[in-house]
Amino acid sequence: MDHTEFRVKAKEMVDYIADYLENIRDRRVYPGVQPGYLHKLLPTEAPEKPEKWDDIFKDVDQHIMPGLVHWQSPHMHAYFPALTSYPSIMGDMLSSALNVLCFTWASSPAGTELETIAMNWLGKLLGLPECFLNEKNDSPGGGVIQTTASEATLVSLLAARTRALMELSKLNPELQAAELLGHLICYCSDQAHSSVEKAGLIGLVRMRYIESDEGQSMRGAKLEEAIAADKEKGLVPFWVCATLGTTGSVAFDNLREIGQVCQKHGAWLHVDAAYAGSAFVCPEYRHWLDGVELADSFAFNPSKWLMVNFDCTAMWVKDSTALHRTFNVNPIYLRHENSGKAIDYMVGSQNEDIKKLTLKKINIMNDIDHPKADDNKVDNKFNKNNGVITQIENRNITKVDAVEVSTDVDGNIGKDDDLYDAVGDTKNLHGYNKISHGCGKIIQLEDPNKKELLHWQIPLSRRFRALKLWFVLRNYGVVGIQKHIREGVRLAQKFAALVLADPRFEIPQPSNLGMVAFRLKGDNAFTERLLKRLNARGYIHAVPACFKGIYVIRFTITSQRTTNQDILDDWNEIKIVASEILTDVFGSENGNIAVVKKPRISLKETRELNATFGTSLLLANSPMSPKIVNGTHAAICDYEQVLTSCAQTFAQLKMEPKDSPGANTETIEAKIC
Ligand code: PLP
Repeated sequence: MDHTEFRVKAKEMVDYIADYLENIRDRRVYPGVQPGYLHKLLPTEAPEKPEKWDDIFKDVDQHIMPGLVHWQSPHMHAYFPALTSYPSIMGDMLSSALNVLCFTWASSPAGTELETIAMNWLGKLLGLPECFLNEKNDSPGGGVIQTTASEATLVSLLAARTRALMELSKLNPELQAAELLGHLICYCSDQAHSSVEKAGLIGLVRMRYIESDEGQSMRGAKLEEAIAADKEKGLVPFWVCATLGTTGSVAFDNLREIGQVCQKHGAWLHVDAAYAGSAFVCPEYRHWLDGVELADSFAFNPSKWLMVNFDCTAMWVKDSTALHRTFNVNPIYLRHENSGKAIDYMVGSQNEDIKKLTLKKINIMNDIDHPKADDNKVDNKFNKNNGVITQIENRNITKVDAVEVSTDVDGNIGKDDDLYDAVGDTKNLHGYNKISHGCGKIIQLEDPNKKELLHWQIPLSRRFRALKLWFVLRNYGVVGIQKHIREGVRLAQKFAALVLADPRFEIPQPSNLGMVAFRLKGDNAFTERLLKRLNARGYIHAVPACFKGIYVIRFTITSQRTTNQDILDDWNEIKIVASEILTDVFGSENGNIAVVKKPRISLKETRELNATFGTSLLLANSPMSPKIVNGTHAAICDYEQVLTSCAQTFAQLKMEPKDSPGANTETIEAKIC
């Protein structure tokens, strides 16, 4: 494809996209294909010769589109939203075309700086405390865009693990990191997302699940109890993940209580607000953020509800050095003239305080006295007296300011090992004191270099994601984004009202924000059948969840295009299918529920009887949080039912020659004549 063809075809693509999104309501949201369908349609080998664009795109229309779940459809109610928007699409179009990789400032100055700016905007929009922002020269906090909430959780766990290991190894210099690792333990609620468990598995640390309360919220007292018991066993609590907006029922852990426990025990607190985080753009939902200043890291997905298309996870940390010492490996090919100056450049001034030193003469600027082996507060070994490993109260570690080195003609610097030896006791631990700049005369070590975003994440390369986030924030403005969130919540409340008005249904526990978990009263099998039949019909799509043995259908408002009428239509679809099922089982569309016709009460009477009439009592803050959200094919599709309904449909068909898509008009006319 050359420039000329690209101009034509890309414009056609834009029209295709606009048509798709404009008319998405007309599409069947869940595809009617079976596993393996595409393998039967596409060749097994890549083409030997170049193919024409029109031929390629024809296959998109014929083979790919019929096999998609239409996530942008107003009738998509599965999972959580994965919204996009025109400004976001434009951001990704441009980012794809530019294809800059923003890992160091030098790799794309505007890319890294825009990310910091956009993350500061977003942090303020959510009402995050200043300690998470990066607006000042010396601010250790800041935001970074990760790919997913899962990755943000893992990054946070790894950073906390490094911090804990560094501290423990100072106390127990004779023990290897692997031995220390075996003593670490972290915590999350029994309602936490599976990605938290996965982070623990990858991090090779023990994870304890704290039983949530009746509102599916993790509370401080239970956490404290578990931590105290674990410390008794000689374990070291180092990381806690609190969830704001659980996957099952959008329940909220009690941040303040949990934060206080974490502070007491020196554990890192990570907040996973993957879905619900978007809601904090509206001040009325920020009560769930109470205590966030006690957290060490916070992440949510603008790629879910904020209309910034996947991938985009906003993550903030209070102290970015914790990330650098975890992820900074810093080979020479990534060093550049402005290493360490990027952050100063961003705020428009140079850091005057950077000291020039020689390789061997290292200025330890912040060597905080750690409790020593003989300090009565801290036991230097795994404590034999009471079986508890005591943690260091003061978490600062040795920082090295700056080092001047002589370089050879290629800019290569002296041996890293010398430097490690010189800086002392962190040599076994990962990266904290490595040289970060070797091309010029001055190299700066770790701390001033914190804006190099490659040290904030696992991969080296990173997309220019800030562009789409920035476009969305500017094009919608705060007012537009707040309106979008409030509308999603309003529609969910409308749906909940419809469910509650039908005596055959129940909402076992109120849900929050834009999600309602509902079910048919009675046996789980009825609701399961209802969901599978709904998905097989393809008009709406939802997934199940199960909490303490109660099977529910999660109904999430996922689209900014959803209207009142869509909700009414979807509810109508649910009622029709429910009536079919109940009639099959009980011979009556009401099932075994005695439906009492309610007497009509006038509005005037209602107002007289209920002083608070008019305020929404439907979605009180006591969510129900199913543990499992099952989106697998088996959980949402009923093959038997699909086959039966196909057979019924075919049996009813009275085929005429003109019904055949293969028959053209002329042939039919010829036959009729
Ligand atoms: N955390 C919570 C609470 C979630 O609900 C989800 C997904 O819905 C995740 C984490 C995982 O998100 P991601 O797909 O961005 O890793």
